Amino acid sequence: MVTGELRAEVRAFLAEYGGAPQVDSWLTGWDEEFTRALAAKGWVGMTVPPEYGGPGRSHLERFVVTEELLAAGAPVAAHWIADRQIVPSLLKYGTEEQKQRYLPAIARGECFFGIGMSEPDSGSDLASVRTKGTRADAGWRITGTKVWTSGAHRADAFICLARTSPLDPDHRHAGLSQFIVDLRSPGVEIRPIVSMNGAHHFNEVILDDVLAPVFGTIGEG
Ligand SMILES: Cc1cc2nc3c(=O)[nH]c(=O)nc-3n(C[C@H](O)[C@H](O)[C@H](O)COP(=O)(O)OP(=O)(O)OC[C@H]3O[C@@H](n4cnc5c(N)ncnc54)[C@H](O)[C@@H]3O)c2cc1C
Repeated sequence: MVTGELRAEVRAFLAEYGGAPQVDSWLTGWDEEFTRALAAKGWVGMTVPPEYGGPGRSHLERFVVTEELLAAGAPVAAHWIADRQIVPSLLKYGTEEQKQRYLPAIARGECFFGIGMSEPDSGSDLASVRTKGTRADAGWRITGTKVWTSGAHRADAFICLARTSPLDPDHRHAGLSQFIVDLRSPGVEIRPIVSMNGAHHFNEVILDDVLAPVFGTIGEG
């Protein structure tokens, strides 16, 4: 489709849907009904191929839709991370099981993700994360504290960066792994961080010996 037509289609959809524009709508505009309506148009997980339940559209088309949604301040927060980060990660590094499990649900607008990277003493320098992953019979046991976790109180799961081999000062970026952690697992505690304006988007997520199943490791551990 010519991208101009797609752009016009998104604008018409937004005009019909209504709603006031939101500042930082990618963070503050959590509206699962809106996400499902968008998914029904094929505009969530747009680059997911049909064999995984998506419409298999181009990256340019996804860009056009995203640009229009952000320009309008549309409430995209619920699917933002799943659409932006999890879909490409799984398409490139995911196992067949992960793709089958998550991609169709994301494209239907029914599966929401967060990001568990930052920690109280680890921001830009993620090689310093102290959350640990230890091998267990059924997968990995994860213990640590994540912070600034947008939407964790509403998301189904988050990707969690953890150190899985001891820190080697000469190779600080080695020995880290990413896991998909179900945020409703036993051992997960989600504490709100309330912003100055009273809004609640951020959280602290405490992981106490949380089981991340083997299938949840993204890429080679
Ligand atoms: C709106 C918002 C949403 C967020 N959501 C999430 C989320 O969902 N999940 C999550 O994990 N995190 C999230 N974060 C956290 C964000 O990713 C961190 O703020 C980021 O990792 C930076 O860490 P920091 O704030 O500790 O800053 P620091 O790492 O302490 O950096 C402070 C300053 O020092 C500078 N600096 C750092 N290192 C160097 C260097 N080596 N050389 C020169 N300058 C340097 C930085 O540019 C910055 O200006 C969110 C942040 C924001 C603002």
